[in-house]
Amino acid sequence: MQHFASDNCAGICPEALQALLAANDGHVPGYGEDDWTRRVSDRLRALFETDCDVYFVFNGTAANSLALASLCQSYHSVICHELAHVETDECGGPEFFSNGSKLLTVRGEGGKLTPEAVRKTITRRSDIHFPKPRVVTLTQATEVGTVYRPAEVAAIAELAHAHGLRVHMDGARFCNAVAALGAAPAEITWRAGVDVLCFGGTKMGLPVGEAVVFFDRKLSEDFAWRCKQAGQLASKMRFLSAPWLGMLEGGAWLRHAAHANAMAQRLAAGLAAIPGARLLFPVEANGVFVALPDSVQQGLRERGWRFYTFIAAGGARLMCAWDTQPESVDALLADLRELTS
Ligand SMILES: *Cc1c(COP(=O)(O)O)cnc(C)c1O
Repeated sequence: MQHFASDNCAGICPEALQALLAANDGHVPGYGEDDWTRRVSDRLRALFETDCDVYFVFNGTAANSLALASLCQSYHSVICHELAHVETDECGGPEFFSNGSKLLTVRGEGGKLTPEAVRKTITRRSDIHFPKPRVVTLTQATEVGTVYRPAEVAAIAELAHAHGLRVHMDGARFCNAVAALGAAPAEITWRAGVDVLCFGGTKMGLPVGEAVVFFDRKLSEDFAWRCKQAGQLASKMRFLSAPWLGMLEGGAWLRHAAHANAMAQRLAAGLAAIPGARLLFPVEANGVFVALPDSVQQGLRERGWRFYTFIAAGGARLMCAWDTQPESVDALLADLRELTS
């Protein structure tokens, strides 16, 4: 049975697994000095059409925390959406690794920051008693399954840069956003003003690992030491990096993301016809947020379905993954129809 609790419930996609097995051949240097890591880094530079710096870490919490820490001094602050993963799901990692930089949360429709809200937060205080805003962080795709358009990213980044702030993007589901927009990866990152991207690999179908991509290479100074100190420098780095090659070569990363997005669309279309089910956010990536009566939620759980309700006030979060089958979506919808009839 497939689950909709998280895209993390899925296994490793075949392309990544194949590359992982291919990398398990012979002795190669550790700590990123291997050919696999070099090739993947070059492949990412080609993908982003720019000479960016690339680092691999084990998970998204570390990627975000270390990236933000590299942009901040301890007396700085980071502006984020109130639903941002960095605020709600990283156990204070960004504050810890930055030695105390404060997160300043902002409200916004559909999980998105707006230039107006960011401007207000930047300009509210400039006195010495308040932590100085230094970074804006955006999540792409957002925590509620919406996607920033290139112009939306650009408007926020332009404002941030005008005030001397840096722009970080939490791209745990970057692949789903790229697939949804049909845009070039460069277009929604550095060309729109993003300085650092945490490019999610795990949810995309890798066994483990995220890439931290610095478009402004000055910002990555000493980042390698930061990773090592945080316990995020993989000794057998090839097993973090090689699966990326399997994903990127031949475009599996985008194909799988488009598939996950399509499954979310199928689910959303089915939900629209179910009485008592109300979509809470536009379905733009691979997540569907739906309000369901408590009895229906309980009925689904009794039938073995797993999903979270902690996000977005009472709604159920249903995530689709690279391997979500149409039959699984249809089986969930069939159970929903029975439970609501
Ligand atoms: C899953 C996720 C992460 C990364 O979480 P880890 O469990 O630390 O890998 C980061 N940001 C968002 C928005 C996520 O959904």
